[in-house]
Amino acid sequence: MSVTPVLDRIDSQLPEALERLMDLLRIPSISTDPAFKPDCARAADWLVEDLKSLGFEASARETPGHPMVVAHGGPEGGPHVLFYGHYDVQPVDPLELWDRDPFDPEVQDTPKGRVIRARGSSDDKGQLMTFVEALRAWVAEHGSLPCKLTIFFEGEEESGSPSLIPFMKENAEELQADIALICDTGLFADTVPAIITQLRGLLGEELTITAASKDLHSGMYGGAAMNPIRVLTRILASLHDDEGRITVPGFYDGVPEIGDNLKKSWEALGFDEKTFLGDVGLSELAGEEGRMALEQLWSRPTCEINGIKGGYTGDGFKTVLPSKASAKVSFRLVGDQDPQAIRENFRALVRSMLPPDCEVEFHPHGAGPAGHMNTSHPAFETARLALSEEYGRDAAYVGCGGSIPIAGYFKSILDMDAMLIGFGKDDDAIHSPNEKYDVESFHKGTRSWARILAAMTETN
Ligand SMILES: [Zn+2]
Repeated sequence: MSVTPVLDRIDSQLPEALERLMDLLRIPSISTDPAFKPDCARAADWLVEDLKSLGFEASARETPGHPMVVAHGGPEGGPHVLFYGHYDVQPVDPLELWDRDPFDPEVQDTPKGRVIRARGSSDDKGQLMTFVEALRAWVAEHGSLPCKLTIFFEGEEESGSPSLIPFMKENAEELQADIALICDTGLFADTVPAIITQLRGLLGEELTITAASKDLHSGMYGGAAMNPIRVLTRILASLHDDEGRITVPGFYDGVPEIGDNLKKSWEALGFDEKTFLGDVGLSELAGEEGRMALEQLWSRPTCEINGIKGGYTGDGFKTVLPSKASAKVSFRLVGDQDPQAIRENFRALVRSMLPPDCEVEFHPHGAGPAGHMNTSHPAFETARLALSEEYGRDAAYVGCGGSIPIAGYFKSILDMDAMLIGFGKDDDAIHSPNEKYDVESFHKGTRSWARILAAMTETN
């Protein structure tokens, strides 16, 4: 079935598509705040009704938290595609930094083009509606959905997804498909369409070092008593060597070197590290020596100290020897690095550096391994070519320095490959005041999905 009339319809129906998106954006589906629970349910119901109008069998499924929207539709035979997005949004505080009501969306003209301004416009309502609008245009032109489809919209992504894993496990059979498409990411450097093929994992650890049984006076005890801040900072300072490598024993087990092809393709992206750093007032890369910026961001693991606490930090001065000092440390993980093993090795290293009279207590935070997508799945090259056609330039396989656990869950729970394609831009201000989504992103994203579905259906 031809995609051309579908693309023409997407173009001509853009104003109506924007109106529908703004309807959804008016629902304040803030998942983390119980006060908005009815609104989350309302957003789920809105999507259910919309999917039903496209011929889906759709329902909002109860969970201990907010509902999941699950829909099935489309003809048997050919590929079976699952599409994931989330309808919940981040809180809006600080409200006074918004130029308008975050839930009163508006299309605005800006020097950089037209934008839809509202909480959730980019993350993720605008993005998930690109897919829905592509399907709507397809159904209008061809009378049915392009292929067998499962839609899976979550309502707790912005609040830690507590119901996601149990729901996926309980409904594993129902959620089976040939591939999962996830639309919750961005373009590369605002202009190049991108498919994310690797995501870093994340491990968090908090440590508190205690020396004396109470805070001491530095005149009376200083010199004779151990200061836990001194111990803590010595340990933290030792976590990186002079070449920027991380010193936790066994840390690099399972860290792969990227292949020559991938390295060349990343080099070809022309990533401007001077601008990247310059935008935030920096000038020199601070990661492992001899690695280009994109490697440091996408394919190399990190150790970061995210916070330090101890002693007197108020106004004025206090000559205190504190009893305790603590720090929060996180690790971004790649390849097959094992988060639990790294946690153990980190703790052992800290213990080995403790002087007499000091004790350490650890508090674990999240631990998720890195994700790597299976680019040999034929859908990847099909989608890459379709995206390249829409944007008139080669779509890139890129990494992502952040962590998007859902991609890994599709693999580990449902044994399905996942493909991450998104149309957000770095300046969309997701999670911040004045969030926006470019009308162009919405429009081209919708067209891209139509092309991708057409290509996947044809090649199958
Ligand atoms: Zn999101």
